[in-house]
Amino acid sequence: MIEITNLTKRYGQIKALNDVSFNVKKGEILGFLGPNGAGKSTTMNILTGYIPYTEGSVKVGGFEIMENPEAVKKQIGYLPELPPLYQDMTVLEYLNFICDLKSVPHRARKAQLDDILYMVKIGDIRKRLVRNLSKGYKQRVGVAQALVGNPPILILDEPTVGLDPSQIIEIRKLISALRHDHTIILSTHILSEVTAVCSSVVVINHGKIAASGSVSDFSATEGTVRKFTIHVVGDKSSVQKVISQTPGVRKTDFIRMDKDASVFMVESGHDVDVRRPLFNELSHNSMAILELRPMGRTLEEIFIDIVNKDKNSADQ
Ligand code: ADP
Ligand code: MG
Repeated sequence: MIEITNLTKRYGQIKALNDVSFNVKKGEILGFLGPNGAGKSTTMNILTGYIPYTEGSVKVGGFEIMENPEAVKKQIGYLPELPPLYQDMTVLEYLNFICDLKSVPHRARKAQLDDILYMVKIGDIRKRLVRNLSKGYKQRVGVAQALVGNPPILILDEPTVGLDPSQIIEIRKLISALRHDHTIILSTHILSEVTAVCSSVVVINHGKIAASGSVSDFSATEGTVRKFTIHVVGDKSSVQKVISQTPGVRKTDFIRMDKDASVFMVESGHDVDVRRPLFNELSHNSMAILELRPMGRTLEEIFIDIVNKDKNSADQ
């Protein structure tokens, strides 16, 4: 449904996006996760046709955005980081104004707005002035304007930022309810938001994709240690003895025999790379390594790494 390929965006000298590629399938809720300044809003502003890109291609429902911006915009409802709410309008006046902007036919408006007010649970406050609404209600009105015109795709830029915990839960519920008939991309700098509502995730940092996949892919491994599988020629007990004596190795689990090789899962402590010591110890004992492969890291590990690295470089 959405295909982003080798997308690059420069603001003068700053490269805000650097060769970003990812796809979003119909019906997916994609979490676009990254620390502040990672390039989330830039990507969303490009995807919704607000700003042009420098290089690459962005296709929505088969239409390339630079060639066919109107066809793309029709398919997308957008909640920007700072929704342009008109403070002196009532909620209903504002949503009618959005209907004008999106050319929703007059005869279709009442039914459509009734549906949206019900869905987003703002029917009670339809006659209130936008300026007098709480932040949580303002965010709901922001979601409501994105739904005007019944777009199949919703792009929500940090939809829970600045809300209190009960408002966050309400907005998450709303997003989960919308998933049934929408494809959704939501950005966030909070990891738990992704695991709470998303089916897949793209992690972005300094304008580059750091990781992507389904949320369940990342929860397949657990904890915050580094794990490897290793295939070593030799019988189980002698190989295990050498591996478990290797400095930095915290845990060794025999998995299976693979012909004449023993296969183990090896766990090291945090921030320890045991690959060189393993090679040294095993070759010292004339045991051949046929394969050494890192096991997948959890989303939490990836994200903590990114945030810590940024912290360290900021300290220098
Ligand atoms: P995020 O939404 O992930 O916090 P942004 O997409 O807003 O990140 O910003 C990505 C990078 O691009 C940042 O370094 C930011 O300073 C820079 N940037 C964003 N908008 C502009 C702009 N209009 N002009 C120059 N630099 C910008
Ligand atoms: Mg942003």
